[in-house]
Amino acid sequence: MNLILLGPPGTGKGTVAQEISSRYHLPHISTGDIFRQNIKNKTALGQEVESYLNKGDLVPDDLTNRLVEDRLNQEDVADGFILDGYPRTLDQARALAEILENKKAKLDVALNVYVPDEIILKRLAGRRVCESCGDTYNIYYKKPEVEGTCDTCGGKLIQREDDSEETVKNRLKTYEEKTAPLISYYEQENILKTVDNSASLDETLAQVKEVLD
Ligand SMILES: [Zn+2]
Repeated sequence: MNLILLGPPGTGKGTVAQEISSRYHLPHISTGDIFRQNIKNKTALGQEVESYLNKGDLVPDDLTNRLVEDRLNQEDVADGFILDGYPRTLDQARALAEILENKKAKLDVALNVYVPDEIILKRLAGRRVCESCGDTYNIYYKKPEVEGTCDTCGGKLIQREDDSEETVKNRLKTYEEKTAPLISYYEQENILKTVDNSASLDETLAQVKEVLD
């Protein structure tokens, strides 16, 4: 079974991917891991990636596609995979289709992990981090005993800039703009399935089971 996962940050997509990976024995592949592995092993592709990252640039689509292709040609994915965080654009989706076609394979399911924006906002913009020990809290879901103070060490809780409501809203908007075409693309391919991850992980996994079995 060849699977991709779609969904913006804050949907808990990574956790869902990990669970699916262990239950269905599918390697969990993320572009971040592929980048890191290639850099660590000093492959030619890894050195190219590093040259972009060192300059603070984004890794271009074309290079990302080649790294994904290289990863999908490895033996452990012969019986299937779960791809997380790729494709992010329509161009990447087309590249993936071509990569699979060359392997005489195809995508079985594009799993869209859905959480309403207002819940994502609470999950991300509600996050607070202890500036001393790094423990994380959430002002809606995991409140500290004393407001603004870390339960573990008594340190001060702060909101990271990345988690500000403004930034989170912008990220969601960018995601929406980039991936809306992706959603319709997989809809047309008839492989788009949506699961709602706004309640518990168990409920989500029950939906996943229904979709995949
Ligand atoms: Zn602390």
